[in-house]
Amino acid sequence: MPELPEVETIRRIVERGLVGREIEAIDLRLPKLLRTSPLPTLEPLIGQRVLAARRRAKVLVIDYSGSLSLMIHFKLAGQLSVHTEGGDRHTAGHPVPDPLGPYPHRTTHLIVRFSGGAIAYLSDVRQFGWLRLLPTPQVEWALDGFGFGPEAVGDGSIGREDLAARLARRRIPVKLALLDQGVLAGLGNIYVDEALHRARLHPERPANSLHDDELDRLHAAISWSLERGIEQGGAKIVHNRAYPRDGFPQVHARVNEPCPTCATPVVKIRVGGRGTYLCPGCQQLAGR
Ligand SMILES: [Zn+2]
Repeated sequence: MPELPEVETIRRIVERGLVGREIEAIDLRLPKLLRTSPLPTLEPLIGQRVLAARRRAKVLVIDYSGSLSLMIHFKLAGQLSVHTEGGDRHTAGHPVPDPLGPYPHRTTHLIVRFSGGAIAYLSDVRQFGWLRLLPTPQVEWALDGFGFGPEAVGDGSIGREDLAARLARRRIPVKLALLDQGVLAGLGNIYVDEALHRARLHPERPANSLHDDELDRLHAAISWSLERGIEQGGAKIVHNRAYPRDGFPQVHARVNEPCPTCATPVVKIRVGGRGTYLCPGCQQLAGR
């Protein structure tokens, strides 16, 4: 569930709370998080200082002194919680463990202690996430290996014409084309549903069937949905219900709640096996 806005929120937490601090101790309780790591342990990070935090699609990259970088993928259920010496907590990602509860939680797999007293807890209730430690000069090459398309939001993000050209090559449902990280990097299930609702497009419309005005609406709606998510610090979904009850996301995880545009109850369907939420009033398959 951590999608681009949640990962961007985690990036900002690291940037604000940890840059400049030195790592004093590392407790990795689930070594399999390193199963695909070029360097086999995190020990080389001890004594190194955090230099920067950056993001490509849903991959977080933290750069350290000593020319080392840590790549983190939060997958379905990763969460980072940074506790500072003043007692402040900054948490983003999956809602479990409870950000206000005790840490470390039984699902906390990595604890990093920093100079000045800050502690970072990485938790992952599903254990699908991963960490890769590698020399900083190898990061670009490692990221290239994912074959990510252009970013969906932010500096250098996809232009309207590029989006149109990429969708024109695909007959699959527009929802599935948008979820393909090689088409567009960083859009996941929640934000695709929100963007399609905002653009008034049915998720099963073939990607290559969209008209010019529909492409205009979709291009604007993609950055709107991600920016709205980032502004809120990510989406909060617990037991398939979105919170806050009258906020964002507007249709995802809101079955039977009124569409904020037309008040028609939101329905859930499956598109390519993915749970998909839409408003049958605003998003008609025939287009409009
Ligand atoms: Zn509607």
